[in-house]
Amino acid sequence: MSAEPGARSDLLAGLLPTAGPDDSPIDALLVTDLINVEYLTGFTGTNGACLVSAGRRVFLTDFRYAERATAIEGWETEVISGQWLEGLAGRLEGRVGFEDDHVTVRTAGLMREAAGNAELVAAGGNVERLRRVKDEQEIGRIAAAAAMTDELYGLLIERGLAGRTEAAVDGWLTGWMREQGAEPSFPLIVASGPNGASPHAEPGPREIGRGELVTVDMGVRLDGYCSDCTRTFATGSESELDDLSRELYETTLKANEAGLAAVRAGASGSAVDEVARAVIRDAGYGENFGHGLGHGVGLEIHEAPRLGPSSEDELLTGEVVTVEPGIYVPGETGVRIEDLVVVGPDGVDRNLSTVTKSLLFV
Ligand code: ZN
Ligand code: ZN
Repeated sequence: MSAEPGARSDLLAGLLPTAGPDDSPIDALLVTDLINVEYLTGFTGTNGACLVSAGRRVFLTDFRYAERATAIEGWETEVISGQWLEGLAGRLEGRVGFEDDHVTVRTAGLMREAAGNAELVAAGGNVERLRRVKDEQEIGRIAAAAAMTDELYGLLIERGLAGRTEAAVDGWLTGWMREQGAEPSFPLIVASGPNGASPHAEPGPREIGRGELVTVDMGVRLDGYCSDCTRTFATGSESELDDLSRELYETTLKANEAGLAAVRAGASGSAVDEVARAVIRDAGYGENFGHGLGHGVGLEIHEAPRLGPSSEDELLTGEVVTVEPGIYVPGETGVRIEDLVVVGPDGVDRNLSTVTKSLLFV
């Protein structure tokens, strides 16, 4: 398991000997992505950067955040006027890695100007690697976000879907989240009938009818951490639903269960994907599952590792990932079923999504 917040910068410093291009050593890492900054320091704001070397932890911010920054334990805070970029001159020495996957070309140019004799090298992805494995506190926060999402699914099931527009359902769900002190962790999906054939449909003015499938994909961000859960519901009565919808649902559910059964530390993201994908392919819908099986969830809704045909990630104990197969039939309908799980050494350690996966008519 990864460490508590105070020790994260120590773990990062431990990576420096291989954190540069082609696993080359660097003397320091400049962390400028604000999510990564938050992960290392707990700081939330619009202007902050971390400089981590073997012996020093320097946090750069401006006067607006000076008070907040003093609460960050274990870091030397340098309050600068203006953006962190303006505080770089004279602080960089030796070979310094920067997060090339988050920095604009313009910012990279300004960084090189400020670097003087220091050598700046691309070193993105190091903090993201640390972020993959969650500690107990992080898992607790993700679980709390997932529990809030499940509670909202319960309310949605009680209230029903038919007769309301997708946009109205979206507004109601989002409003409830905000009343609980949370935010949607991504733009919610409420996709009814033929709209369900689009994996990333945006909720619109379509009124949800009877005898349809409705895919709802939602999550909250609570205390910084995200949840993510998809359920597909039916509307109307059992006799109003067509056979294709039932078949898609049953196949997707089997794929979800097969994927969950394949999750364990040491399994590759591509192998777990293939187990679920094979179920859908064998049912004749291989062409209708056009996205990867899942992704890591944490401070960001999509983070490493990835579960998909081209993933090179190997799952680790303590990662929190989704398993979300789907089948999308253009012009007809679609189904997706998504659970959020903690990876354990021998299988799923804990499924954080507790909403029933039996097809409900709501
Ligand atoms: Zn989702
Ligand atoms: Zn997802």
